[in-house]
Amino acid sequence: MSRGNLFIISAPSGAGKSTILKKLLAAVDNLAFSVSHTTRAPRPGESNGREYHFVDRATFEGMREEQAFLEWAEVHGNFYGTSRADIETQQAQGLDVFLDIDVQGAHQLQEQRLPGVVFLFIAPPSLVELEKRLRGRGTDPEETVQLRLSNARREMEDAGRYDYLVINDQLDEAVEVLRAVVIAERCKARRSPNGRPIDLVALGFAPQ
Ligand code: ADP
Ligand code: 5GP
Repeated sequence: MSRGNLFIISAPSGAGKSTILKKLLAAVDNLAFSVSHTTRAPRPGESNGREYHFVDRATFEGMREEQAFLEWAEVHGNFYGTSRADIETQQAQGLDVFLDIDVQGAHQLQEQRLPGVVFLFIAPPSLVELEKRLRGRGTDPEETVQLRLSNARREMEDAGRYDYLVINDQLDEAVEVLRAVVIAERCKARRSPNGRPIDLVALGFAPQ
């Protein structure tokens, strides 16, 4: 079975990355989401093992020392990391895996130059709209909103380092662009649009 691709997706907080990913995962076959480890507290409605593996600082640091993370970073005052073992399991099943990681984590992976890794950046249509979305989400206190807005200015400067830029103005259009990217990357890896390897026997091209 051919290994899946890794899709690294970064965006300023509030740009709509989680909303887009949820829709994309429901719309496209053979995609998986990489559930990161974090020391941040769960938000209302989040559950352990679904959005994140919520761990304390000592557990995170222990994993870091054991080299358990493919990449990790401190973002907005909390630690976040991607488990090497989880990604390996998903890719080996032929799944394309989406990693929701910040620009620092994306840099680390760019430097590793792993094959089959695609970098996507999601931008909000404007700073004013980003602020509206962060407040509209209603999950973060004012000082957190301010910190995320000031980090956004710096993060937007990194958009040029990514393979694809998607502006999340109309939600459905942004999801459609991401779907197109996944299908195009599958074709590059000579897989079917559904992510499965092409089956020469089923197509009647079996060697004589
Ligand atoms: P992120 O995961 O990037 O931090 P979210 O997915 O939580 O962002 O989205 C932030 C807020 O913006 C949410 O309330 C979400 O419903 C809203 N949102 C997302 N995409 C759009 C869009 N295209 N138009 C308007 N609101 C959006
Ligand atoms: P949030 O707390 O809003 O869920 O996420 C905050 C930031 O942490 C986002 O930019 C998100 O992409 C990033 N993030 C989430 N998981 C990881 C991870 O495993 N590694 C890195 N480097 N960043 C992550």
